[in-house]
Amino acid sequence: MSHRIGIGYDIHRLVEGRKLFIGGIEIPYIKGLLGHSDGDALIHAVCDALLGALAQGDIGEHFPDTDPKYHNVASSELLKITADLVKSKGYSINNIDSVVIAQEPVLSPFKKQMREKIAQVLQIDSSCVNVKAKTNEGLGELGSRQAIACYAVAVIYEVK
Ligand code: MG
Repeated sequence: MSHRIGIGYDIHRLVEGRKLFIGGIEIPYIKGLLGHSDGDALIHAVCDALLGALAQGDIGEHFPDTDPKYHNVASSELLKITADLVKSKGYSINNIDSVVIAQEPVLSPFKKQMREKIAQVLQIDSSCVNVKAKTNEGLGELGSRQAIACYAVAVIYEVK
C-alpha cells in the first residue's frame, strides 16, 4: 500500500475583539486569533499537512486570503474541502498528529473536543487524530501570549 506523509505549520497573532477558535472549537479567552478566516491555526496546519502529503502546494494557494469568499469563513469548511481533495486524488487519511503551542489559555480540557471535531470533518475515527497542547515555557512571542502556533503531520494512503 502506498503511503504519503505531509507536514503543516501555522502561526496567528492573538488580538482583542476576536473569538478564539482552535481545532474547530470555540475556546473562552480574552483574545482571539487574527486572520482573514476565523484564524484557526490548528485547522490551517492540518490542511497544510494534508496538502503536503498530496504534493498539492499550500493553503494560501487553495484558499487565498485576498479572496472575499474566505473572509471570516469557518476553517472547518476549508478542512472539509481539503479532505474532499484527498479523496478525489484517490487517497484516504490514515492519521493526523498535531501540536498546539499556546502559553494561554490552558487547552488540555479542550483537546478531546478538538480531536473529535477534526475527525468528524475528515470523516475518520477520533482515534486517528491526536492533539498535543504545550506552552512555550514563557519564551519569545509565543510565551508572551502574542501568538499561537501549531504543527501537524498527516499520513494518507492510496485507496486501491
Ligand atoms: Mg493560517
